[in-house]
Amino acid sequence: MIEVPAKSERLRVNEIFHSLQGEADAVGYPTVFVRLTGCPLRCQYCDTEYAFHAGEWQDIESIVATVRGYGTRHVCVTGGEPLAQPNCLKLLGRLCDQGFQVSLETSGALDISEVDGRVSRVVDVKTPGSHEAARNRIENFGSLTPHDQLKFVICSREDYDWSKAFLQEHGLAEHCRILFSPSYNEVSPAALAEWILADRLPVRFQLQLHKILWGDMPGK
Ligand code: SF4
Repeated sequence: MIEVPAKSERLRVNEIFHSLQGEADAVGYPTVFVRLTGCPLRCQYCDTEYAFHAGEWQDIESIVATVRGYGTRHVCVTGGEPLAQPNCLKLLGRLCDQGFQVSLETSGALDISEVDGRVSRVVDVKTPGSHEAARNRIENFGSLTPHDQLKFVICSREDYDWSKAFLQEHGLAEHCRILFSPSYNEVSPAALAEWILADRLPVRFQLQLHKILWGDMPGK
């Protein structure tokens, strides 16, 4: 008889794959990515639309076993918007229990306060250029720690100026690390680097390493 996992222990998974971490603190480390299905946002630059609907239900123990099979230390739970599935919180805790270095990539639109404290949270701040700035959950800022990172994807000079003002308005650079990335094919990386330098902005510039290496190839 085929055993069906209890619904309370399942997640809908779009893909699990092994690649180099392309962003944030763990950039460059071999990492297993668990991409969960679904996202309530529709950012205009989204490069993972294939994760909005497609995916297979898997129980948490089998996800953890698959991750373990890759033999790497770093795991990134991403999406879509992983927190859109409440069981994501259980998965994150189990991965931490197994001794993995766990990071979470989240849109910033959902509550992050229940995420296991051992997880490094990479939280987006959606700029006007994303067309989803109204979804930023300002209450999340109160639970940020130096262990977390806030990521701005900059689509234009107007987005940059907005982000600079937003940082100041919410005092964000004092709470956690701040990442500024140019939106792929929308802002020249060199232009963004020059703006940051000219303003002495206390942010970390980053390029998406996986895009440089592999472009938009899914599963990388
Ligand atoms: S939050 Fe992420 S996955 Fe969702 S639409 Fe925006 S870029 Fe795509």
